[in-house]
Amino acid sequence: MNNLAQFRNKNHVKILVKKLHSNYPGGTLKLMEVCGTHTMAIARYGLRGLMPDGLKLISGPGCPVCVTPASIINASIKLSELPGTVIITFGDMMRVQGTHVTGTRVTGTHVPWSEKTLEIRKAEGADVRIIYSVLDMLEMAREEKNKNFVFISIGFETTTPGIAISIIEAKKIGLKNVFFLTANRLIVPAMHALCRAADIQIHGFLCPGHVSVIIGYDAYREIADQYSIPCVVAGFEPVDILLAIDDIIERISKKSAGVGNAYGRVVTERGNTQAMDIMHQVFKPVRAEWRGIGSIPNSGLDLRDEYTHFDALKKFNIKLVSQPEPKGCKCGDVLRGVIIPPECGLFSKTCTPETPVGPCMVSTEGSCAAYYKYGVGAE
Ligand code: SF4
Repeated sequence: MNNLAQFRNKNHVKILVKKLHSNYPGGTLKLMEVCGTHTMAIARYGLRGLMPDGLKLISGPGCPVCVTPASIINASIKLSELPGTVIITFGDMMRVQGTHVTGTRVTGTHVPWSEKTLEIRKAEGADVRIIYSVLDMLEMAREEKNKNFVFISIGFETTTPGIAISIIEAKKIGLKNVFFLTANRLIVPAMHALCRAADIQIHGFLCPGHVSVIIGYDAYREIADQYSIPCVVAGFEPVDILLAIDDIIERISKKSAGVGNAYGRVVTERGNTQAMDIMHQVFKPVRAEWRGIGSIPNSGLDLRDEYTHFDALKKFNIKLVSQPEPKGCKCGDVLRGVIIPPECGLFSKTCTPETPVGPCMVSTEGSCAAYYKYGVGAE
């Protein structure tokens, strides 16, 4: 059996599920995952259906596309309307709607501004390109010097160091036609905000595997200590996730929160300090808005002074304006773990992956997309 196969092994799954049932202390316990890949893995493997009665796996703000506020989507759409501007983005951002409520129409189109997406802007003739690496944008900018390139910069600590490297490189080679609309977010400040919210009860955190590779599992100690909530890092195979849940339950039973690492094959105590240093070299933490959660201190990243000439908002004089969710969309409550997607009135009716209303249905890591794709097994 190869290494990965052990973590998908049915017998291992059965043993862990049995252990979980016999160790479960009873009552209702809510464990939140703050990682879109966990959201998908839990749904795909039907892990919710294997839990003891009372143990609820709820999803939090772990999908970067989903937590990006409407103000950023609206700004990216505005930027796409500037002549000679190329919008560069990751694929999932293409179908997230702007939510401008004035009803203004863009000249020559029949689509209200409130329904605009980058995909629609592309169909209307805007130059919007999907990339997988930001370094690709630098190459394009070098070749097409008569155009301005704007990268819609989203993501957590997993993605942001790579973006920081691209910005350092752009400065080094003196590119004057690349800009960044920065909406990168930090996961631990969001966990603090959830722990402090009066209407959310979380008994344990299933901590994100990818982010933890960078920040290290010790980054969650402040959460565990301050709120007495166990935090355990999990990988993405069913056995990884069950091991982490088992660890959390054991910690709850012993009334000793603490931090655990059930993804020891890739996550270390301190993480990738070099990547974190590069990220902090380019960005500084700032208060930032999260969809559905609101404004959280030190949870966003802004360009430091020496890189501020890459700031797309400053360059093109665009202001971020907070906007409400699309009408009827409960993405905010889904992202805070207050409701599960089927409790939104639009779920699988007007809102489907083909006709998504909110980003939680657009993103391949969104909770609504996970529940829709994997159906009852996801509940
Ligand atoms: S089902 Fe659609 S409308 Fe409802 S919360 Fe999810 S994304 Fe928003």
